[in-house]
Amino acid sequence: MNVKKVFTGFVILMAVILVASFSLLISPPETVDVVIIGAGASGMAAAIEANGFGHKVVILEKMPYVGGNTLRATAGINGLNTPQQSAFNIEDDETLFKQDIFESGHDSNNEVMIDLMVKESAQAISWLTLQGVDLQDVGILAGHSVARTHRPSGGKPVGRAVVEALYAKLIELDIDLRTEHKAIEIVLDTAGAVSGVKIEDKSGKVYHINTRNVIIATGGFGGSPETFVYYNQKLKGYATTNSPSATGDFITLVEQLNVQLVDMGYIQTHPTVSTDYGMLITEALRGNGGILVNNSGMRFADEMKNRDVLSADLLAQDNKEVYLIFNEEIRRSLAASDDYIDMNIVIEGDDLSTLATRLRIDQLQLEATIMAYNSYVENGFDEAFNRKSLKYTLEQGPYYAVAVVPAVHYCMGGILIDSHARVIDDTGNPITGLYASGEATGGIHGLNRLGGNSLLDAIVFGRIAGRNIK
Ligand SMILES: Cc1cc2nc3c(=O)[nH]c(=O)nc-3n(C[C@H](O)[C@H](O)[C@H](O)COP(=O)(O)OP(=O)(O)OC[C@H]3O[C@@H](n4cnc5c(N)ncnc54)[C@H](O)[C@@H]3O)c2cc1C
Repeated sequence: MNVKKVFTGFVILMAVILVASFSLLISPPETVDVVIIGAGASGMAAAIEANGFGHKVVILEKMPYVGGNTLRATAGINGLNTPQQSAFNIEDDETLFKQDIFESGHDSNNEVMIDLMVKESAQAISWLTLQGVDLQDVGILAGHSVARTHRPSGGKPVGRAVVEALYAKLIELDIDLRTEHKAIEIVLDTAGAVSGVKIEDKSGKVYHINTRNVIIATGGFGGSPETFVYYNQKLKGYATTNSPSATGDFITLVEQLNVQLVDMGYIQTHPTVSTDYGMLITEALRGNGGILVNNSGMRFADEMKNRDVLSADLLAQDNKEVYLIFNEEIRRSLAASDDYIDMNIVIEGDDLSTLATRLRIDQLQLEATIMAYNSYVENGFDEAFNRKSLKYTLEQGPYYAVAVVPAVHYCMGGILIDSHARVIDDTGNPITGLYASGEATGGIHGLNRLGGNSLLDAIVFGRIAGRNIK
């Protein structure tokens, strides 16, 4: 062994360690005005808003890409009294919108927050439009009295449009977005106010940012079967529509902070999720005229009932076998349906007898069901189930069918916030500097969220959090 070489190597190593330790000592820890945890709709809206108020922002995203569950949203975002509604001559008002929300939520919604969300809904739509999101089409979803769900022209999926536009804005504004950086701890000072965040980067290195404001926008926990079954045992064995990013990180992040978590057991199932790949079949497809039949070829419910009620009706059918049926006219009215055809989850038939054979259901019964439904549309009254939204007849083929089951979809529970998006502790007081928004929060939607209100909630309260930080 060459002793001299070993000694020289040792000296060099020690010098490197010394220099590194010294530079650590002299380089001040990074300090910003706000750290936002999660780059879905809510986190990105908060970041853009905070940046607009002149704050120095860092937005963390644990995945290699932005978007979370937002990226999967298809049907649209609700807005009241928008220019788009006027263009379609849709008459709507605050009382009616709230009535639909409370009926869906079984009157257990947070009234103050709903009032604020409804009042700010038109502004949320115009703000998104200003960021470059096309929201020119307006459709009706289950549980709504009128069409108020805004989406891109031709009925294209809304989530992609929102994520692309907000992400482009983050880049344009040069906001510090760090993908594959996961928040692992929110640090409070001795007075109980936010003082920083501990972060793990993709190499596993843990570092700290000093900040007096943190916005938790991590989304929900519907992508983690272990977590949703922990909070609601009835959901054991259910598939999920959620992104793998929706693992409920907010739960561990606030565990030591005496934060109030509310309504954690209220977890919404969506009735129409493809049995193949767990792909959600948007409510907009029923809104535009799709119907549900069981394996006897019969309708069994008003297809536009609220999600919780319709999920239960569907599970009561023989072998839980149900098909969502639509035709060419409906397909053309909603661009999102082409995605399902491209994914090969749709069974097609030029006419009803071919479709029935392919579905292995009684042809005569299916034809009788469709004929009766067509007559309801023509007369404007559904004699069987009193469905209110009767848009297109199913007169002309080709026909399409997707086998569907309910799957876990949305977490109504989460962090309790107030109307300033401040996080509330278990004594009922806000924690200084701690904010939350989007699906990580709870209590707003009650027992069952109305479709199209989650993106609305994410944008409204994300923006409120972004502009309220001190
Ligand atoms: C299939 C599907 C369709 C839907 N369709 C609609 C619809 O049409 N209309 C509607 O209103 N709602 C819809 N929803 C619900 C809606 O999309 C979501 O509730 C909403 O987008 C949530 O937004 P968010 O910003 O709160 O969370 P997300 O969009 O889920 O974003 C949270 C982000 O935080 C990141 N994150 C999590 N933990 C950490 C951490 N520790 N550190 C750093 N980053 C972290 C995640 O990776 C994720 O990117 C749908 C949901 C699904 C699953």
